Amino acid sequence: MYTSLKSLREDVKNCTKCELCKTRTNTVFGEGNLFARIMFIGEGPGRDEDEQGRPFVGRAGQLLDRMIASIGFSRNDVYIANILKCRPPSNRDPLPHEALACIGYLRAQVAMIKPKILVCLGRIAAGYILGREVHITRDRGVWHEIKGFYIMPTYHPAALLRNEPLKKESYADLLAIRAKYDELTERHGQA
Ligand code: URA
Ligand code: SF4
Repeated sequence: MYTSLKSLREDVKNCTKCELCKTRTNTVFGEGNLFARIMFIGEGPGRDEDEQGRPFVGRAGQLLDRMIASIGFSRNDVYIANILKCRPPSNRDPLPHEALACIGYLRAQVAMIKPKILVCLGRIAAGYILGREVHITRDRGVWHEIKGFYIMPTYHPAALLRNEPLKKESYADLLAIRAKYDELTERHGQA
């Protein structure tokens, strides 16, 4: 059990639980609002993230910023993290044993930040969060209510960069996320 995000971050920084520790430049712990109601979960660091030690700072990250802004939030309103804290060589998919070695850190982040909404960016993140194989074109945009969390799989921004027409469905998902947020934070019985 971790007592603070700070000590968790330190543990990740020193982690050697899988061989990705040998090729990383920096670990990418995650960042954002520690009281965030919404957490965006990606797959793992790419080159820019590995260099800077921060999540979603490359081209996909810039699009993620615009996605977040499109529903009236900024990066400081949400929390952003990944399944993997270290970059896989040449951005290959995480191997199952790497993801399973690492996902405990994400679980601890979720336990401490206690978001209400988890947005899974792409097939890989959604698959590990939901614990089953995900086909993103079929499974996106659907809420899963699990242990008090509202979980939504949607497209990864990198997929939107490769395939622009997907942005229409992506925006529909973002609007549903905003609506769920409003529903969950609505004050009842205001004078
Ligand atoms: N893609 C991801 O899944 N995560 C990042 O942090 C950057 C790109
Ligand atoms: Fe540890 Fe995760 Fe990095 Fe593997 S990917 S070394 S489990 S922090």
